[in-house]
Amino acid sequence: MPTISLKVELLKPTIEKQNVYQTMTQTNTDFANWLLTYDDLNKATSKVFKLFSSNKQLPSAVVNQTIRDVKSQKRHQKAKKYKRLWCAFNNQNAKIEYDRLYKISFPTLEKRIGVPLVVRPFQQKWLDKILNGEAKQGTVDLFKKRGRWFVTIAISYDVEKTTNEKVLGIDLGLKNIATCSVGTKSLFFKGNQIAFKRRRFSSRRRKLGKLKKLQAIKKSKDKESLWMREMNHTISRRIIRFARSNGVGLIRMEDLTGIRMAKSKKEAGRNLNNWSFHQLQTFIQYKAEMAGITVEYVVPNYTSQTCKCGNCDKQNRNGLRFKCKKCSYKNHADLNASINIAKALSGISKHKQVI
Ligand SMILES: [Zn+2]
Repeated sequence: MPTISLKVELLKPTIEKQNVYQTMTQTNTDFANWLLTYDDLNKATSKVFKLFSSNKQLPSAVVNQTIRDVKSQKRHQKAKKYKRLWCAFNNQNAKIEYDRLYKISFPTLEKRIGVPLVVRPFQQKWLDKILNGEAKQGTVDLFKKRGRWFVTIAISYDVEKTTNEKVLGIDLGLKNIATCSVGTKSLFFKGNQIAFKRRRFSSRRRKLGKLKKLQAIKKSKDKESLWMREMNHTISRRIIRFARSNGVGLIRMEDLTGIRMAKSKKEAGRNLNNWSFHQLQTFIQYKAEMAGITVEYVVPNYTSQTCKCGNCDKQNRNGLRFKCKKCSYKNHADLNASINIAKALSGISKHKQVI
């Protein structure tokens, strides 16, 4: 069942409410850090909160959720001290409601009431799906960003798998951000304009750095990552449209865990090395799942050096040109790689599990 998470702003909570949320967050963080050092964590129930503090308060729904979180963190050996742990509520405790306005209710230290939400048009259809039972609401997190309070709502839903059978391969890179191929059809997203725009961002920041305008530098960084996110949304949307119109039922991408994208120093210099390829893959994956298309990750080894005749040789590839040393087969190098990815030539990655 695919899951998405929706970030929705709370409509102007009063100062009193904001103070309550802030206090809850602080108590929750302290409680989580205390739990990390608590010997009987595995047997802990909500009663353990009394041992942590006899005068502080936290709704038992949050206490239980935090115990679960800390346990799972410890199991995965990621148990570092929490800088901050936002309050989380499971689907029994946080409820979406509609009464002229979309609202969410969750337990706080005061009485439980529905808090109105600022709902954007694309979010409305997801909240409606929860209300009419077409989608299932999961955990809700309450958090603050730049002085505004939000909830993230996990939503899972059923999708009918497409009966399409074709396989689409996607090669991600620096010269071409994404190269897609299915059968004889291909789709390229060139990296040069994106790299140009990113260089402008960074040269502007260098100037600001000399002037010590730290606030403006931070603003520019935020602006760039928003822009990058929008680009990744656009690219992924177009890839899924391309997949649907070409009868694709399966998308294969490389498992990039631990891979540096630059294949040469020259490429790294193009300043796309820290492009958020992980974000792009995430967007492609959830949009594919929404369209009933399966996603698989393949082992990234040698995808760009291997020929369809089976000959694998570093010399086969020269920049964007691919020419097999053995059978003389020629193709665009990124396109050749995407064809190899579609065939899962180097095998399906065991490392990266598809969500
Ligand atoms: Zn060959």
